[in-house]
Amino acid sequence: MRYVAYIGNLAKLAVELANGDDPSDLRREFFAQHRVAEPDGAALAELLPALRDAVEAVADAGPIDPVNRLLAEFPPSIHVSTHDEAGGPHLHFARNGEDAASWLGRSCGAALAHVISGDPDVTVGRCQADGCARFYVDDSRNRSRRFCSNTCASRTTVAAYRARRKTTAAARPRPGRTDPSA
Ligand SMILES: [Zn+2]
Ligand SMILES: [Zn+2]
Repeated sequence: MRYVAYIGNLAKLAVELANGDDPSDLRREFFAQHRVAEPDGAALAELLPALRDAVEAVADAGPIDPVNRLLAEFPPSIHVSTHDEAGGPHLHFARNGEDAASWLGRSCGAALAHVISGDPDVTVGRCQADGCARFYVDDSRNRSRRFCSNTCASRTTVAAYRARRKTTAAARPRPGRTDPSA
């Protein structure tokens, strides 16, 4: 794992949970390296409402209360760890081996707190595609991301193209109706 992108990766983990996605490779890697077991449904249900509210608040750039509530419910236990020799010392916001809800709550809460406070490397947004309620993490260089996935991006491009064609067709003069003054 590239720990230079630590906050961004934890933000991705928070977004994945808020979106209700299946566990990603990133999540599996985080859990394996920090000896956290994949949570069952009950453990996730304990965490999700507060986490989803916090992700939503970060995507909308405020209010800050939901992030503070998540931090109060799962206070980060901040320390430096060197368990990953290749990556060197990096920040931890939870203890290795904690139960998944606590580990995720503390780690994701701390990451979301960084992002809403203007972490320069990452933002969280809402997909702009019609009818899509998913969140995404934007760590692109110019922060130009607008969609959760390529599927939503191309779906929106196609819809915009069809709408443009419709407008153009409506504006075109109908054959057979010539100017009476001609
Ligand atoms: Zn670690
Ligand atoms: Zn989408």
